[in-house]
Amino acid sequence: MKIANKFPGKDISIEDIKTKFPLVAKKNKKHKSKFKISGIEFGGNLIPVFAGPNMVESEKLIISCAKNVKKSGAHFLRGGAFKPLTFPYRSKKYTETRLEGLKWLKKAKNETHIPIITEIMEEKYLDKICEVADILQIGSRNMQNFPLITACARTQKPIMLKRHYGSSLRDWLGAAEYIMVEGNKKVILCERGVSVPHTHRSTSRFLLDLQVIPAAQEITHLPMVSDPSHATFWRPWVPSMTLASIAAGSDGIMLEVHPDPKNSAVDPLQPIDFKEFKSLMKKMNKVSKSIGRHILKK
Ligand code: PEP
Ligand code: MN
Repeated sequence: MKIANKFPGKDISIEDIKTKFPLVAKKNKKHKSKFKISGIEFGGNLIPVFAGPNMVESEKLIISCAKNVKKSGAHFLRGGAFKPLTFPYRSKKYTETRLEGLKWLKKAKNETHIPIITEIMEEKYLDKICEVADILQIGSRNMQNFPLITACARTQKPIMLKRHYGSSLRDWLGAAEYIMVEGNKKVILCERGVSVPHTHRSTSRFLLDLQVIPAAQEITHLPMVSDPSHATFWRPWVPSMTLASIAAGSDGIMLEVHPDPKNSAVDPLQPIDFKEFKSLMKKMNKVSKSIGRHILKK
């Protein structure tokens, strides 16, 4: 296969493509995976949107999010019952809702028929999470937790693999190969921002690596999702980075949406509210249409 940079240096070599991740690599220039999850097509002209709160905080919150994001055209509801929280100290408000949260997610799904994407942190909860999730989310912190990835892959459930914020494209694709080698073909990659020396401010904790979208697509046939909420960590920058992700060729968008963003239990600086989400969806659809794709029903 020909890749634009003939000398990719220390990162991905032609040899890697053949021997390290043959299943994840494109077989030819046009090769792109297309598959359906809960009736929604990935890798085609549709750009599926995952929207919802950072954490499944309560039954009321998740049901209201499910109803609202669905009404605005979101394809999946996101929300973590199990959360990789950066610091161990937390008040009751910040406590993960775990199995109870999973029940609320299930209720939200039963009431609204929106499919669910939720994070798995420990293999011991795999069966329970599989009862609710339509897509298993492997969070950035577990990108190279190979026993967890392998166990998830073997269920044959679709998996979204978030890139660790310190990971090269090579390591990320290597982790995706761990899923595919188990015969699981429904793999989605998600860029969620990288950590670089000049991002050490609260308003730029991470940097959205927009360039990794075309870079990954040059090498892999797997669909690429962008998560501008985690990447910017800053609500005012989410809309422009979302539109830029679509323009860059993203095959999906993950957005944090909360009815009362400032009071979000986790990461209150980054979610947008229902109104902003509705308006952003329209703009996203416009940008998508300008490149022959779409988000909302035609
Ligand atoms: C999330 O999407 O809820 C999350 C924790 O993301 P990340 O793993 O990218 O930090
Ligand atoms: Mn987070």
